[in-house]
Amino acid sequence: MLRIKVVCTLGPATSDPATVLAMVRGGMNLARVNMSHGSRDDHRRSIEAVRAAAEEVGRPVAILVDLAGPKIRVGELAEPRVLNRGDQVIMAPEESATGDEIPTTYAALSEEIKANDVVLLDDGLLELRCKGTTGDRTRLEVVRGGVLKSRKGINLPTVNVKAPSLTEKDLSDLDFALEQQVEYIGLSFVRRPEDVIDLKLRVAKRALVVAKIEKVHALRAIEEILAETDAVMVARGDLGVELPFERVPLAQKRIIQLANYYGRPVITATQMLESMIEHARPTRAEVSDVANAILDGSDAVMLSGETAVGKYPLQALDALVRIGTEIERSGFLERGPRYLTRPGLRTRGGASRREHAIAAATVDSARQIGAPAVIVITRSGFSARLVSSYRPAVPVFAVTTELATYRQLAAVWGVRPVLAEGVDVTYEALSAYGIRMVKETGVGEAGASVAITAGFPFHEPGSTNNMRLDRL
Ligand code: PGA
Ligand code: MN
Repeated sequence: MLRIKVVCTLGPATSDPATVLAMVRGGMNLARVNMSHGSRDDHRRSIEAVRAAAEEVGRPVAILVDLAGPKIRVGELAEPRVLNRGDQVIMAPEESATGDEIPTTYAALSEEIKANDVVLLDDGLLELRCKGTTGDRTRLEVVRGGVLKSRKGINLPTVNVKAPSLTEKDLSDLDFALEQQVEYIGLSFVRRPEDVIDLKLRVAKRALVVAKIEKVHALRAIEEILAETDAVMVARGDLGVELPFERVPLAQKRIIQLANYYGRPVITATQMLESMIEHARPTRAEVSDVANAILDGSDAVMLSGETAVGKYPLQALDALVRIGTEIERSGFLERGPRYLTRPGLRTRGGASRREHAIAAATVDSARQIGAPAVIVITRSGFSARLVSSYRPAVPVFAVTTELATYRQLAAVWGVRPVLAEGVDVTYEALSAYGIRMVKETGVGEAGASVAITAGFPFHEPGSTNNMRLDRL
């Protein structure tokens, strides 16, 4: 079993329940349902297929409903349009665009854009520059030309876009996701910590929030966002358009390091095995990219088009698993981000000092006594995520009585969720159950020492204050 977790985006290529079952068998830990594409019925069917497959295989699989967010797009064009360097064009709200004007879904564009601001179209393939505005019209000059098609994305890297972070469609998709009791909600185009706070208020602990880092403004406020969010995604697709692409590799490392530091699970996403949309084998550069994302400290790596629309979804998943297995066998991860636990650094964020102290002590004690596993008894999953962020060299058995927590933890690095069904909700019974599981799975043998962490008073949120060494 891998410690790195695997996220697969579901789509037309993976809509068949038999394929979803094969994905779960093949190692998918988190299924991503992308609300930017597909119908409500497609999404409902995907969720049902994942639940059924996880049930059949007997392993938890989490579901992430990824909200589209305020993605700005080109409206409908009668036909594709050739734009040449030096051309002067006008962008207008789609409701009123006429003639040669380029329609946009963002009606407030002309109010927020200023002369010289950059307008990128179709993942940055085309570049325009603002020359000025007249009423609700924006005058632009083409800097890098190309063919423009309907519905292509618009990125405005230099504009502080004021559109609300949740559109009406997002709110309706959010209701659907909560109704379906999914484990994670993705928030696209996060700009400020307030965007996360707003979503968390609406979600009210019914799911975990994944803040997608894909805007320059989010990168600038990354620590404030990490303090608020439950998890993050290095969303390299849009990030690589909003930022000059050469800045993405170091931005990725910085986001991952800080996410580890705050104890927040981090997913590295987009174009990881892009060529596998068309081909049965990845390029060597892609293989290296996946390996490096794991070595950087990602909790999870994600497939997008590879599994949503690609020709080889199962092969792409298998490639991720093969790369992960090789890295984990190599021992390189154990040389990983040790600086995070080195004493003398400022205290880590994202949890209280007591919570950090217990998590660090648990992981360090397990190492000192040569424990084959760490056991965390957890209700919300928070302490298991914190223990995982100290990247123990052995599996974290997270024992919980909560089905939602059990599924959420499927996506967290190094965690093996254990659902304690029909077990007394007492420290003694749950720790005994965890010990039994470590033995039954063959991870540890009778007599070996283990580190167990829990809170007293038992099951009171935020009370993790206890670490005990026991024997299997
Ligand atoms: P998306 O997000 O696939 O929803 O755009 C991920 C990214 O931008 O990398
Ligand atoms: Mn994106």
